[in-house]
Amino acid sequence: MGLLSISQLMHKLDGQEDIRQVVMDLLEEIKQLRADKRGLLTRTQELLQVIDEQTRRSNELRSRMEINPKTGLPNHLRMDKEIAHFFGNQSPEKPQRSGAFLLVRLDKNYDTVQRTLKPQMSEWILYQLGERMRTMFRDRYVFHTRESEFLILVEGSYNTKTIEKIARALRREIHQPHIFTGYNVHIGCTVGISLFPDHGYSKSYLLQNADIALQHALDQDTGIGIYHEGMRDQVVERMDLQNSIIKALEHQAIKEMDKQFDMYYQPIVSVLKEGTEFVVQRVFAEALIRWHHPRLGLVSPGMFIPLAEETGLIIPIGNWVLYTVARHLDQWFAQELPLGGVSINLSPRQFRTEDVVENIRRILDNHSFPPDKLWLEITESTLIEEPMRIISLMQKLHNKGIRFAVDDFGTGYSSLSYVHRMPVGHLKIDQSFIKKVTDDAKSQAIVRTIIAMAKELGFDAIAEGVETKEQAEFLYNEGVRIFQGYFFARPMPAEDFLVYLEQQSDQAGSRPPEDSETASPIPDPQV
Ligand code: C2E
Ligand code: CA
Ligand code: CA
Repeated sequence: MGLLSISQLMHKLDGQEDIRQVVMDLLEEIKQLRADKRGLLTRTQELLQVIDEQTRRSNELRSRMEINPKTGLPNHLRMDKEIAHFFGNQSPEKPQRSGAFLLVRLDKNYDTVQRTLKPQMSEWILYQLGERMRTMFRDRYVFHTRESEFLILVEGSYNTKTIEKIARALRREIHQPHIFTGYNVHIGCTVGISLFPDHGYSKSYLLQNADIALQHALDQDTGIGIYHEGMRDQVVERMDLQNSIIKALEHQAIKEMDKQFDMYYQPIVSVLKEGTEFVVQRVFAEALIRWHHPRLGLVSPGMFIPLAEETGLIIPIGNWVLYTVARHLDQWFAQELPLGGVSINLSPRQFRTEDVVENIRRILDNHSFPPDKLWLEITESTLIEEPMRIISLMQKLHNKGIRFAVDDFGTGYSSLSYVHRMPVGHLKIDQSFIKKVTDDAKSQAIVRTIIAMAKELGFDAIAEGVETKEQAEFLYNEGVRIFQGYFFARPMPAEDFLVYLEQQSDQAGSRPPEDSETASPIPDPQV
């Protein structure tokens, strides 16, 4: 039997109403399904369109990110890709392509234009320069890598003579005047060149060589530099020279800072009680900076240290502190004065880079005081951001002999879990608790806890900001043996501290010999 049309089927079903109804329903359902399918198809198509549009937009965005908006030339991002693609996976042993990299740096005139003329004008000039290069190299491999730097990749067999000719033509082209009503602007450039395969066959090596050639041309003022082996040594030599200039400048800066900054020393004493008197056993000190501002007079570190932190000036200031304290330590130890050590405050920012390790290493190399006489005080907040990195820096310094104290202990939140991992010898109980320790039960509880904790961890607790005998006695009874505060001594200039040390050593000399138990200096940090 052949296929029946719907109407034939209906005709045959005449009189069999039940089945007829079933078939009608089925047909209705099929119709519905067809409609749904059509709807689904349309929706899928719409969705595909949206996806297409989004892909197009993200491609557009990506390619826009790879274009310098001022010149419309591809930037360093595209350069990386295109050059990698250019070299493909050819082996450096069997180079198949030859050519040159030309690194073009605009001269100071461009910086002047940028600083002094309206932005639209400097942008117009930059655009024009890009256009000239694009035209000259027929749109191939011209990249705008930095504000005033371009890189051109030219393919072909060049020797130094032929490539120099091209570079000269390029410089002439760049140097053409930009004409504005009333005046002309000339921008010059310097070109550094590396040839491949002669000067290497890896992208990074060639770019580096072009850069070295550019530096060389800038130093010698030759306008064009073509890389050769000797240049590398010359550039390294020049960098050494630069470093020594920086050191000399640093020296000069330190001299200048000497005129305004001053280092004060506040004794930190380990004591024992004899009757009702505290007898100093050993003297340490905290180095505290003072600023004699030419106009404002004495500015408290509480005022300028946070500002110096914010602006980054804490780095040179911190270095000045390190150098100055190191100089004093050398003098005092040369005189064999009875000094246990000096602590320096280090700000969080000084720990942001590894430089602190290098600076301290340099200081230790250039001075003769024993490294364990230098302590560094850091606050809990230094640890908060990257505890593990800071601990590793501390460890490096500790390996050189440096000791650490945690300053303002009890005011931060985070470090408790890290303190035992740090190479720390001392915890300095924050002044705010000491201030109220004789009459505030809460402060007493905190102080007791800190003392107990320090003992548990094998650290020495130092009470800071002790102003009265009552405070000292309370703390002594709780087990504290190391004190700092106006009750014992105020911060003083280096010359006065020297006198203080001499007096202490005289007094110690006039006392009967101490038994070895009580005369023991502050124990070494338990690390
Ligand atoms: P700090 O590290 O907590 O230093 C202790 C501060 O308490 C010093 O204030 C000291 O003069 C003061 N002080 C000591 N004993 C007493 C006392 O019995 N009573 C009272 N009321 N105060 C006492 P200073 O010298 O004004 O320094 C303030 C802060 O500035 C220091 O607090 C420290 O955080 C910072 N600072 C000082 N020098 C340097 C430095 O060379 N480098 C860095 N990064 N920070 C420094
Ligand atoms: Ca301190
Ligand atoms: Ca403190």
